[in-house]
Amino acid sequence: SQAPALAGVDPSKMIIQRTQTPKELMKEEDLVFGRTFTDHMLSIEWVAGKGWSEPRITPYQNLSLDPATCVFHYGFSCFEGMKAYRTESGELRLFRPRKNMDRLSLSSARIALPSFDPDAMVECISKYVALEEKFVPKKRGYSLYLRPTMIGTQRTLGVGPPGSALFFVIASPVGPYYPSGFKAVSLEATSKFVRAWPGGTGDKKLGGNYAPCILPQQEAAKRGFHQNLWLFGEEGYVTEVGTMNLFTCWVNKEGVKEMVTAPLDGTILEGVTRDSILALAKEHLGKEGWKITERKYTIKEVADAADEGRLLEAFGAGTAAVVSPVRRIAWDGGANGVQRDINVPLPEGKEAGPIAERVWKWMEGIQYGDIKSDWSYPV
Ligand code: PMP
Repeated sequence: SQAPALAGVDPSKMIIQRTQTPKELMKEEDLVFGRTFTDHMLSIEWVAGKGWSEPRITPYQNLSLDPATCVFHYGFSCFEGMKAYRTESGELRLFRPRKNMDRLSLSSARIALPSFDPDAMVECISKYVALEEKFVPKKRGYSLYLRPTMIGTQRTLGVGPPGSALFFVIASPVGPYYPSGFKAVSLEATSKFVRAWPGGTGDKKLGGNYAPCILPQQEAAKRGFHQNLWLFGEEGYVTEVGTMNLFTCWVNKEGVKEMVTAPLDGTILEGVTRDSILALAKEHLGKEGWKITERKYTIKEVADAADEGRLLEAFGAGTAAVVSPVRRIAWDGGANGVQRDINVPLPEGKEAGPIAERVWKWMEGIQYGDIKSDWSYPV
């Protein structure tokens, strides 16, 4: 006999239970990233052989899980980071939410958690954001940070594919990453610790990828650096920085202005910001003679460009900051190398180069609905 069709995620079946104790809104200036949460959460349960149950919006609350639940032991956890923005006229927008749900789908598949229809999930998240409307800040630069998460919930110490899972979304109102303008960061090029490797899981947004990056970050911070610049291999390939993708702008050896970023070879997270910046740069900078390139490049190439006066800018790119300009990279010089500083030029008295500033404006304009775009998803 044929197996019954598994239930998919169905936004039309959503059950909403409103809180009886709504929270006071915090003053926007007092918001600290990821500390305060909204009144409600969205949850959808999954059971092997049955599929997805109806989506539920409930008051924000603790999860109750048996200590033997597989997420606590074997790291069955993946997540997303995305934001809801309020436009000048007060409407709510998500930025390319389908990209985040596609990425979550790949992450969850990698750790044997269930797949889902990404469009249905976007619809559920959209309904949830609409219900939390009052928590989406009005001030420009502020937003509602969304944290979709999927965990394995089967109660077992057996190592195997979880027989049950929970998808949930919580939301936290957040302020701008740079409340008083850009502040360029210094990086420590790190080859002692390796964040990701070919065939590994660095291109998925798994909880297990993040905990091991805290110690290297603390070590870099002790030496006065904001973030690690993750290198890979004896060649010293530049991969990404902290929890951002990295863009380097230089005049290449052929004398052409080039914006370069590492390729999607499995060793970097496929950033939504990265993808957006590549498209915008091709559209705008392409016309100005810039070459926009995804390829492997080494820290030595960056050092050489700096030495030869060809290095123009470098900046991190991610949902939190949009762009994060770099001022300095410390590098141990590789095997038998000499420790040295790579200074990234910044215009006199400024904390960001012209390309970083322009990229940030293009992105912000779309996110807050000033610029009409298919990337802006009305809630
Ligand atoms: N790399 C890593 C390791 C990250 O955690 C993030 C944040 N999700 C990014 C890059 C940037 O991705 P996005 O632009 O989608 O925020």
